[in-house]
Amino acid sequence: MSCIFCKIANGEISAKIIYQDERVVAFNDLSPQAPQHYLIIPRKHLATLNDLTNEDVELAGHMLCVAKQIAIDLGIAETGYRTVINCNSDGGQAVYHLHLHLLGGRQMEWPPG
Ligand code: 5GP
Ligand code: ZN
Repeated sequence: MSCIFCKIANGEISAKIIYQDERVVAFNDLSPQAPQHYLIIPRKHLATLNDLTNEDVELAGHMLCVAKQIAIDLGIAETGYRTVINCNSDGGQAVYHLHLHLLGGRQMEWPPG
């Protein structure tokens, strides 16, 4: 398995992990786009959001709940933050292991680039 996020999840590649449990791992983005930028990934390898099935409904909900809890713990829940899942080429996806971006600590803009 050559997937870098699988390797982060199983400890083969180091990352600054801020939260993990049996289903997900959250760690600092290598190239932060905001003062706070974390990635929440499932331990299960799903390449894109398109690969979610009904089996993964709880997992997807758990990823969102973990993002929310991290935002609370970081103290940015009230000021606000953004969650993003990029899917495939037009979505700007670069790493083909599903991940939820959590960005905060600055004013976000809309529409995104
Ligand atoms: P995407 O464009 O696929 O939504 O986002 C991929 C993200 O993964 C990018 O923000 C990029 O900085 C981050 N990233 C890529 N490789 C690594 C890595 O080896 N370690 C960490 N921590 N982040 C990575
Ligand atoms: Zn993977």
